[in-house]
Amino acid sequence: MTDYVIETPPIVALPVAGSDARFPVRRVYCIGRNYAAHAIEMGHDPNREAPFFFQKNPDNLDTSGAFPYPAKSSDVHHEAEMLVALKSGGTDIPVASALDHVYGYALCLDMTRRDLQGEAKKLGRPWEIGKAFERSAPVGPIHTVAEVGHPDEGAVVLKVNGDLRQEGNLNQLIWKVPEMISYLSEYFELAAGDVILSGTPAGVGPVAVGDTMELTIEGLGSLTVQVV
Ligand code: MN
Repeated sequence: MTDYVIETPPIVALPVAGSDARFPVRRVYCIGRNYAAHAIEMGHDPNREAPFFFQKNPDNLDTSGAFPYPAKSSDVHHEAEMLVALKSGGTDIPVASALDHVYGYALCLDMTRRDLQGEAKKLGRPWEIGKAFERSAPVGPIHTVAEVGHPDEGAVVLKVNGDLRQEGNLNQLIWKVPEMISYLSEYFELAAGDVILSGTPAGVGPVAVGDTMELTIEGLGSLTVQVV
């Protein structure tokens, strides 16, 4: 047995729907501007250009159903997304076989300190301060491919306190799931346990303590998260 010099950090693992088993997470990749209407609302060209990615930390994933309003921000936004969980990986994965690497799908919120992200963008600095903070990725259980197949169409809806905020459809993804996996695998060695957040539709906006966010993706159920 290895004699670690400090207590070992916990393994981050997501529940699997309909099972007591858990999915251990290695890395969290997030794609930016993957819906045209969201690219436009953020002031960017909606035309298909090469995708770009940033990362969150595995331990930013949180299944508690509560999102603690983070420090140092007064403009925290919701981003409704689908999480893709990989059971295997590799490099230079062809688009045609990319879905063979998928274990399942989940609902996820890419919570963002928009004011800090905006400042970082303006200064040409990295985005972590706006994106990769504590509990910044509320997430639901993983639905296996055996259960839900590979969802490539279906409404993505986010409500806050019952009011419609974000609405899109998985068929509007600029870069489809197999393309995201293939593209990422050209730059990184993907592996079992990696998860990818697929981007958010238009309508991102601020939340406040006391708000209830409800994300629904057709075929994957819904996820309710309280801002505390
Ligand atoms: Mn996002």
